[in-house]
Amino acid sequence: MRRLVDLVRHEGNECLFKAIEMSIASTLHGFPLHVHVEGLRGTGKTTILRSARAVFPTIRRVRGCLYNCDPERPHCPEHSRLDPGDLAALGTEEIPVPFLEISHSAKVGTVVGSIDLKRITDRSSPEAAILPGTIPQAHRGFIFVDEINRLAETSPELADTLLSVMGTKPGRVQIEETGLPIVELPVRVSVWAASNPDEDPGPLEDIRRQLADRFDFVANVSRPTNPQVVKAIFAGISSKDGPLKGPDYLSRVSRLVEEVTVPAWLQEIIAGLYVDFALESLRSVEALQHGSRVAAALDMRREAGLNDLIGVVPLALHHRVSVSTMAQILKYLTERSSAREPSRLRQSPPPSGESGGRAGQGDQVAPGGSPQDAQGAVDRLFSRLRETLMRHHAPDDASGATGFPHHGRPGGAGSRTQGAAGAGSGGGDSGGGGRPWANPLDVEIAAPRARAVPIIRLSPRELIKTGEDLQ
Ligand SMILES: [Zn+2]
Repeated sequence: MRRLVDLVRHEGNECLFKAIEMSIASTLHGFPLHVHVEGLRGTGKTTILRSARAVFPTIRRVRGCLYNCDPERPHCPEHSRLDPGDLAALGTEEIPVPFLEISHSAKVGTVVGSIDLKRITDRSSPEAAILPGTIPQAHRGFIFVDEINRLAETSPELADTLLSVMGTKPGRVQIEETGLPIVELPVRVSVWAASNPDEDPGPLEDIRRQLADRFDFVANVSRPTNPQVVKAIFAGISSKDGPLKGPDYLSRVSRLVEEVTVPAWLQEIIAGLYVDFALESLRSVEALQHGSRVAAALDMRREAGLNDLIGVVPLALHHRVSVSTMAQILKYLTERSSAREPSRLRQSPPPSGESGGRAGQGDQVAPGGSPQDAQGAVDRLFSRLRETLMRHHAPDDASGATGFPHHGRPGGAGSRTQGAAGAGSGGGDSGGGGRPWANPLDVEIAAPRARAVPIIRLSPRELIKTGEDLQ
């Protein structure tokens, strides 16, 4: 088996590596994240998925429990009813995160489990005699289904089983035996699947739309198009971003997912996408929201942001919207992102030296906006203020002044207007020459006569006082 760390990330499979990392972190966190990988034959999708086991961390379970009971929260028929003392006496053990495959020829009984009629003592509670199938044994881990489109067509009953495993989080399996009550088991597994939509019987959406929608993410894998990447693959050298993150890192990420918040403004954007772009499934909202959290955690942050959402959209909506709608959504989000960018970048006080105008520190938030919106508004105001000042001030540069006539600072405003040299003459008469503005550095500041108002409520006109105004 090739280790995942030996596999090369390139632009064609980057989305799959990202989806795998997010799914592993989320699954360890206790929240399944189902991934369907689509791609042509030879794109390495099944190799990558199977190889992911190499970076799986370990989990602790009740010793010998076939259902992988978490010692803190035992769920299986054998251990869920034990009192803490008896449970502790059983001890615990570390096992690799389970990764089990379901083949197309599998029978439902072997996949969900069956009841051992020889072991049954009380026919009203057959739980005690369950032989757990593949899915209950993959609890807290992964189930892999290759060529899921073919499975959906040839084994509708296995597809039904997957539907109930993936329908809720945690999911469930039902074990039925004629003449006995149905036993239902909770399972927390992430389903990974692969398919080639160009081969018979076609895309999963066309065969079992409901099943296709149960996947949180669809990663569309393609062959590398860059010859350098192909060369690197043969040389065994990773070309981009280095190898997949290791088990320790993914464990850390999974613990961080718990703490990541999705701020209200981002939730509003996601809800807006659902309404404005007529997304069909509420699952898409969950995938976008939870995906953004995990993406932030992968980046070791405690708050999800717009760029996390933008990164998740292609995975969460690939199977839910048309190509053109996807493009519109990404364009819309990218525009919002660039509108926010100045406020993200500025961590220092605004250039005027004023600090009272900083929004986001208290409750001075623009109407209907987030602190980021308010900060963005302040940034826009200051940049307009600077522009206005520069425009008025340009003629003074002929005197060699670096900015304001008496208090120019090297590298200050003046350095950006050197192109204006030669125009005008004789700086130094602040407020004079008929110019309608005053150099703030030359003006004595008196306490304002009115109550102070947040700077973000002022128009740029109100921010600029003329000499007359101040006298
Ligand atoms: Zn157990």
